[in-house]
Amino acid sequence: MSDAVIIQCAVTGSIGAAGASPHLPLTPAAIADAAIEAWRAGASVIHVHAREEDGTPTQSLDRYREIVERIRASDCDAVLNLSTGSAGNRAHGAERYACLALRPELASFDCGSTNFGDWVFENSAPFLRDLAAAIAAAGAAPEIECFDASHVVAAIQLERDGHLAAPLRFQFVLGVRGAAPATLEQALYMRSLLPPGSLWSVCALGRHQLPLNAFALIAGGHVRTGLEDNLYYSRGRLATSNAELVARAVRLADELGRPVASPAQARELLALAPATR
Ligand code: MG
Repeated sequence: MSDAVIIQCAVTGSIGAAGASPHLPLTPAAIADAAIEAWRAGASVIHVHAREEDGTPTQSLDRYREIVERIRASDCDAVLNLSTGSAGNRAHGAERYACLALRPELASFDCGSTNFGDWVFENSAPFLRDLAAAIAAAGAAPEIECFDASHVVAAIQLERDGHLAAPLRFQFVLGVRGAAPATLEQALYMRSLLPPGSLWSVCALGRHQLPLNAFALIAGGHVRTGLEDNLYYSRGRLATSNAELVARAVRLADELGRPVASPAQARELLALAPATR
């Protein structure tokens, strides 16, 4: 159990658009179907961003509700990790976390501001304190997305100040243009900063996804894959589905001696509150 790896699938994100890949799920129904397929392939956590029917990223509670209800109406018992991001700079302040009304078990917590290509992904200290309180009030746990080492330090400070509670669950997001590079050295450095008892996972963009998935498996971390982070299976060959990427992560885990956590085991590893749905 202690060796078990949580495979998380980030099925669509808020950046990719129609045309980037025909396999990127772009409607609420397609996002829910992709989530269920990824769970069937071995993902125990699904990271959800919402989109309008035309594929436009959104933080609309109604769109999140449609996706979450579709998943919950199936036999999928994966942990849902809803995004509290800005839907590509379209949502701000409390509208970013309206989806907490759906009582997810996990919610993303972007632990600092960063350049994101040409725009600034703003996560001020007052916003983060409000978000931490809202996530706790909803009975969810924050997944602390760190785009740089300074975000790890900020999370530790938020815990010291009583805004976040141990165990801290870190997601290193590496390879964003404007933030930390997707290198082993970067991942190792960020890991070196973690308080004892923290969980960590690496999500790396594009061609870095596969090697850093392998690194996390070898180094005792958890894995995030999916089309939010990477559209390709290999150089020049698009991944045909989220499930295809999850299935590869499952095979890698198997080869490297890491049992793949079931959703129940993931809940235990992540120290999540008993499900209330
Ligand atoms: Mg995300």
